[in-house]
Amino acid sequence: MSAPASNPINHKIPVHEVDATKKHVHPRFTDGFYQRIRVVTMYALLVAFLVLPWLQYDGRQAIWFDVPSQHYYIFGVTLFPQDFFYLAAFFIIAAFALFMVTVYAGRVWCGYACPQTIWVHLFQHVEKWVLGERNQRIKFDKEPYSAKKIAKKSLIWMIWFVLSVITAATFVSYVSGTQTLYGSWQSLGGLPFPNWPTWVWISMFIFTFATYANAAYMREFMCTHICPYGRFQSVMFDKDTLIVSYDYNRGEPRGHRKKGTHPDDLGDCVECTMCVQVCPTGIDIRDGLQVECIQCAACIDACNDIMDKVGYPRGLIRYTTERQLVENEPSKYLRPRLFAYIFLLTALIGVVAYTLLDRVPLEMDIRRDRNQLSSLNSEGLIENSYIVKITNKTQQPHDYKLTLSATQGLDLRTRFPSLPLDAGESYEMPVSIVADPKLVQHGELPVEFNVDSQDGTYHITKSNVFTTQGQD
Ligand code: SF4
Ligand code: SF4
Repeated sequence: MSAPASNPINHKIPVHEVDATKKHVHPRFTDGFYQRIRVVTMYALLVAFLVLPWLQYDGRQAIWFDVPSQHYYIFGVTLFPQDFFYLAAFFIIAAFALFMVTVYAGRVWCGYACPQTIWVHLFQHVEKWVLGERNQRIKFDKEPYSAKKIAKKSLIWMIWFVLSVITAATFVSYVSGTQTLYGSWQSLGGLPFPNWPTWVWISMFIFTFATYANAAYMREFMCTHICPYGRFQSVMFDKDTLIVSYDYNRGEPRGHRKKGTHPDDLGDCVECTMCVQVCPTGIDIRDGLQVECIQCAACIDACNDIMDKVGYPRGLIRYTTERQLVENEPSKYLRPRLFAYIFLLTALIGVVAYTLLDRVPLEMDIRRDRNQLSSLNSEGLIENSYIVKITNKTQQPHDYKLTLSATQGLDLRTRFPSLPLDAGESYEMPVSIVADPKLVQHGELPVEFNVDSQDGTYHITKSNVFTTQGQD
């Protein structure tokens, strides 16, 4: 169990460890300034997640991580497995952005944007819709099983299952494509049945199970016992990080306003427990900063509501900093650690944006014939053989021409005058370079292959060597 609060006046805000014995939490739903921001943020992200796979760009799915064909489409950009750098860069940027936001504003990600928070919120709304507010849900949990209880539970489970299937289908559609997922049907026993590849069935099962298990059963346990982010947050927090805190000096001694109690005998906390009832992780913010706190600010809204009702100023629980609350000094919003994160983040985004803008959507790989350095052909010319692989990384078909930069005495021989390639297509073309042994300088000569799209839009160059070794 969390230890009760020690008096934190003139001390650091106490930090409590998680309580592993807690039962499922049934939070009361509250309204207020922060909850309205949360609802807008959470549902905007949810809608974006559901709608994005349906967007079309240039005649196909705009965001499509087509793993089977190893093409990853993000609007006008096609990435290939070789472009793994961009994926790695994206995750590094996201991590730095998260660190920066956490240093400044604490766990806003957890409270306002984390998928776990959003789905749990959604699933708990279903419970509220079927069973009613917090007290009714707690009472329902304690009731013995009856036909009515089973019917209500079944309805909740069914809605949760449908939400889990929709979530799984949306996840999978980013990879399989909406066309494969929703457009392929067969008849089974006279009934329409999805005609999906095995991997789509397996993915659907895994994502449905994971969504249901996380949002219906794991809930706040995911945040308090499994997610590592909540654990290392304290490393990122400093005295000026915004945290949801109870003003101990103002609130204590807490107590009910009984008849005959002199107002000066008590602090502003009227011991209504509303801040505990609305907490999705079931903690009491008055015990101090706790690992379980996802900073959803529900307790701020609930307490402000109570303060309005009893005629006290708002902000007994509020977003503040340790420096402000404990040391009674103004917070330092601009600080070196924050600048370091901003600098790193800007530099990273700059490098990735530059490489992305500078990227030529055309690739050439050259492999030399490993069996023979060079040979003498039937015309008496020294010949070097290569395999040139050209990949069209654009989203349109193009004709490509392979040439050799002018080198004294060397001549390129290709099978085709030009190579037509569809969007995303690769082709391995055997080519050779020949030279008259009397005209060419002997030894190893650097050579430069060029590939140009016929419309002149794209051009790349790659170096290799031509050798006379073996014929000297
Ligand atoms: S909601 Fe405010 S007044 Fe009520 S118990 Fe919590 S801190 Fe005290
Ligand atoms: S203590 Fe307050 S901010 Fe923290 S999780 Fe509970 S309700 Fe949200």
